[in-house]
Amino acid sequence: MSRRKIVAGNWKMNLDRTQARELTAAVAARRGTAAAVELVLCPPALYVETVGTALAAAQSDIGLGGQNVHDKPNGAFTGEVSPPMLVDLGCRYVILGHSERRTLCGETDAVVNAKTKAALAAGLTPIVCVGETLAEREADRTAAVVTGQVQGSLAGLSAADLEKIVVAYEPVWAIGTGKVATPEQAQEVHALIRSQLAALSSAAVAAQVRIQYGGSVKPDNAADLAAQPDIDGALVGGASLKADDFLGIAKAFAG
Ligand code: PEP
Repeated sequence: MSRRKIVAGNWKMNLDRTQARELTAAVAARRGTAAAVELVLCPPALYVETVGTALAAAQSDIGLGGQNVHDKPNGAFTGEVSPPMLVDLGCRYVILGHSERRTLCGETDAVVNAKTKAALAAGLTPIVCVGETLAEREADRTAAVVTGQVQGSLAGLSAADLEKIVVAYEPVWAIGTGKVATPEQAQEVHALIRSQLAALSSAAVAAQVRIQYGGSVKPDNAADLAAQPDIDGALVGGASLKADDFLGIAKAFAG
């Protein structure tokens, strides 16, 4: 089963509008070197339109995504952004359940599950993040934690919806720390996630789902990760803020 690799940049709460426009133009202009890979940019919500406009101006096929979304389509939810609003601005993706939202904003698996269903209902592809903390890994709880997050975050999804999602395995201890999981550590958890997806639906569905690795991915460690059979791309934080680094990672996944 061949899954098209997908590399997404999570810009988090970084850059100003001019920088967002410039970074988009730089990535789009040099994207040709990694054409086999699907690329997605996830800017801060306020810059989604700016980035979408820059991508359109460059006639780029790079996808646009949000970093979070509410689980209701509209209503009295001050400060929130809904799935249809992201779609309205040209988004096709949304990152959900990032560890920063799980820890800093108290998002539980149930919250991630509701957002995942709402995103799918609006036609967005959710990039659903899971991953263990250092304490959990050291306590030998990685498999239990990741299994619980996969089952909880994806509960009740139909096979057709499961096929559409992307899962990102992001060990919390590797995010923004410079400590990347070894390719073997990552592969082991990716295989576990795929087996959990099979348990939720079927082996055939699980074989279609793309599973990204995230956590200090850089151009110089991406090729070893990309060589693993169950690693189908990367969710990139820090390195996505530099066009050369982001495209270097994309190139590694292009093979
Ligand atoms: C992330 O936050 O999703 C991430 C993977 O960050 P970094 O690449 O900076 O570790």
